[in-house]
Amino acid sequence: MAGEPQSDCVFCKIVAGDIPATVVRKSEHTLAFRDLHPQAPTHILVIPHAHYPNAAALAAAEPAIAGELLAEAGAAAREEGLTDYRLIFNTGAGAGQTVFHAHVHLLGGKTLHEGLV
Ligand code: 5GP
Ligand code: ZN
Repeated sequence: MAGEPQSDCVFCKIVAGDIPATVVRKSEHTLAFRDLHPQAPTHILVIPHAHYPNAAALAAAEPAIAGELLAEAGAAAREEGLTDYRLIFNTGAGAGQTVFHAHVHLLGGKTLHEGLV
């Protein structure tokens, strides 16, 4: 069923507490934790507890939770002292998505204005 935990999903395992993560924020429907392989001084992932394969699928099924995800990303940025940052939703393997559980990357703490990638 849409939104149900997937046994082969690393982010479902983090939500369940079966894999450790450095959690920075929790909300009713989301979790924010540090990326294992940071690409910037601040690199946080914000995910819904529920399993959806990507952000657009989440927004289509649960628009309020998609909004909560963005609000939590903004709150995490504030907590990190960031006024300037980038939010990225990779969608599909061809765009670099490797974990097929919706997530937004929050990147900041270095100059990010030089290009899109
Ligand atoms: P994607 O490439 O799918 O947009 O992003 C997936 C991100 O998840 C990658 O940046 C990767 O470093 C991160 N990641 C993958 N496995 C784990 C894990 O077990 N723990 C944490 N904290 N991050 C992970
Ligand atoms: Zn999942």
